[in-house]
Amino acid sequence: MGAPEPDVVISEEIRQRAETLRALLNAYNHRYYVLDDPTVSDAEYDVLFRELQAIETSHPSLLVPDSPTQRVGGAALKVFAEVRHRMPMQSLNNAFSEAELGDFDRRVRAGLGVVHDVDYVAEPKLDGLAVSLLYEQGLLVRGATRGDGTTGEDITENLRTIRRIPLRLSGGPHPALLEVRGEVFFPLAAFKKLNAEMEAKGVKLFVNPRNAAAGALRQLDPKITASRPLAFYAYAVGVSEGLGQFKTHAALLQQLKDWALPVSDLIEVVTGAEGCWQFYEAMQAKRAGLPFDIDGVVYKLDDLAGRDELGSVSRAPRWAIAHKFPAEEAETILLDVEFQIGRTGAVTPVARLKPVFVGGATVSNATLHNMDEVARKDVRIGDAVIVRRAGDVIPEVARALIDKRPADARVVQLPEACPVCGSPVAREEGEAVARCTGGLTCRAQLHAGLLHFVGRRAMDIEGFGEKLLIQLIEQDLVKSPVDLFKLDTQRLASLERLAEKSAANVVEAAEKAKSTTLGRFLFALGIRDVGESTAEALARHFGTLELLIEAAQADAPSAAAEKKKDRFPLLQAVPDVGPEVAAQLARWFTDAHHLELLTALRDVGIRWPEVPQVVIDGPLSGKTFVITGTLPESRDAVAARIEAAGGKVTGSVSAKTDFLVAGEAAGSKLAKAEKLGVAVLGWDDLSALLQSK
Ligand code: NAD
Repeated sequence: MGAPEPDVVISEEIRQRAETLRALLNAYNHRYYVLDDPTVSDAEYDVLFRELQAIETSHPSLLVPDSPTQRVGGAALKVFAEVRHRMPMQSLNNAFSEAELGDFDRRVRAGLGVVHDVDYVAEPKLDGLAVSLLYEQGLLVRGATRGDGTTGEDITENLRTIRRIPLRLSGGPHPALLEVRGEVFFPLAAFKKLNAEMEAKGVKLFVNPRNAAAGALRQLDPKITASRPLAFYAYAVGVSEGLGQFKTHAALLQQLKDWALPVSDLIEVVTGAEGCWQFYEAMQAKRAGLPFDIDGVVYKLDDLAGRDELGSVSRAPRWAIAHKFPAEEAETILLDVEFQIGRTGAVTPVARLKPVFVGGATVSNATLHNMDEVARKDVRIGDAVIVRRAGDVIPEVARALIDKRPADARVVQLPEACPVCGSPVAREEGEAVARCTGGLTCRAQLHAGLLHFVGRRAMDIEGFGEKLLIQLIEQDLVKSPVDLFKLDTQRLASLERLAEKSAANVVEAAEKAKSTTLGRFLFALGIRDVGESTAEALARHFGTLELLIEAAQADAPSAAAEKKKDRFPLLQAVPDVGPEVAAQLARWFTDAHHLELLTALRDVGIRWPEVPQVVIDGPLSGKTFVITGTLPESRDAVAARIEAAGGKVTGSVSAKTDFLVAGEAAGSKLAKAEKLGVAVLGWDDLSALLQSK
């Protein structure tokens, strides 16, 4: 803002701009205050408002009494009775930075003629609707909206439905007249629920909780208001008779509390601009966890006599200011989309943005979550987009401004190969997330993959904790699981925080772990959807790694078969392996990187006893069993008996199951078996079968 210029030099351009701004702001006010349906963001509104204020300050002759900068809120709706506020319900001036907060504090102290720090009551700025509640002898007689600050709407019946507003003040004695002012707001959880209901009904959603609160309060039928769980906090007193003397705002709030009026617990008395700033920062940190929306904080001079001394300007008091949080949404351009590979191989589209200041930081990257989201929002490269950064949450592209789409905007394509390791990227049917299929051979997934690989139920190598693995990867000592078996004690002991003794232990553990079983080894590979029992089933079925690889490679071309059951016949012959798991196996064992890894792991000395695939000819040959419930022997023991008699044991009941062995407390498997008509055997029935010839 420059120094005021003499009015003679006001250019036509400035005059017109002021007029345009007034018209725009009036139109926005109408949408916001009267129709509860804003068309622009608050941040955008605030920028225009400040621009008009700046013009009016530099050119006082352009200031007209009905300028939006001189007025509070909007006109009352004609449907409710009008209420004239005996004491105007003002707005608040805004500060957007620490410097503006400092200016406010200096103005307050200059106005009071003091140099020392003064106390302020710091309050959360609830994003709702200001209301006035009139109590006569402790009884609620009228409730009104703020309206334009002078005239509001009589919404007594609606306010009476808000359970937090006492219809009668508790304790006593009560003043003959007391006007309590405060904010009606929509708690977030209830707001989300309401919008979900609106979406299900296909009706227009509320833009934010403030609008939902406004909509609920201005219902002609109080029953609708009653069905919306509105909340209320008191924060000020308007007119009063017989209230008695209070020195400070804090003491007054305490009195309101004593009369059972809800007052926010977040309110604090702070000292000086420094105290205000600390409160602001603390509140910003708490913001995301609060059950209601706040759009900033409010500082009010605590000393009531000082407030009288300072007085007000047209629309706002001089003794208070709203310190607003930075806008959480901003517009920018989507320059490109890159793909990041997560620890589990998930491929995340990441937006590269023209840097933009939002939520208090400059943002140049934002998440696009997954390809479904990209499609749902129809975001294209080159689009103008709205970026959202709320609290500590990762910035995201909230939406594309499709009206502004340039002709050369490009559709975002999922890459076919992983940008890190070059393995194919696959997206399973029905899954939102696409994944790199590289697994252990993809550097992006190495850490998670190795943690799984060394796990107790996998290769069971003790001593490789999460942190050690990170160090090994970061220092390039481990690029694949093969390297875990090549580490030497000296090299390990040179790492931070690893004593020579522990280093030696780790090396020894790796050596010992080389001798394993095929089931554990297959599980350790971390093939998607191949859990412990599937790995075990594969080991049992194929007996050797080579046979499994052969089957997977022979099956791979059948992936395109029309019917699911015709795909991967050799793999699907394994109990527990369905078309989805078979597809993962076929893909994994045909990937050259994976085959190299397998060779390298065997070369480094990993071995297991080969279990030749012996077909036992026994009484249960060709029969498939599932075991459930509590039996006199452990499940493993029972399974071993069945297998020794030639039977197969699988984990889940399907149409392929011949018998369910059900012990005590059998649950869902029993129900499923009954549904599918699978024969159910008790312990005695099984014993009899085992002994039959
Ligand atoms: P304000 O929101 O800047 O501040 C005053 C209001 O703060 C009070 O009336 C009260 O409702 C609320 N408040 C919350 N906690 C409070 C507390 N502890 N103590 C006192 N007051 C508290 O002012 P306003 O005049 O209500 O609204 C102006 C703002 O509304 C603008 O800055 C803009 O962000 C928004 N607006 C947006 C549009 C739009 O189209 N998007 C249009 C008009 C106004």
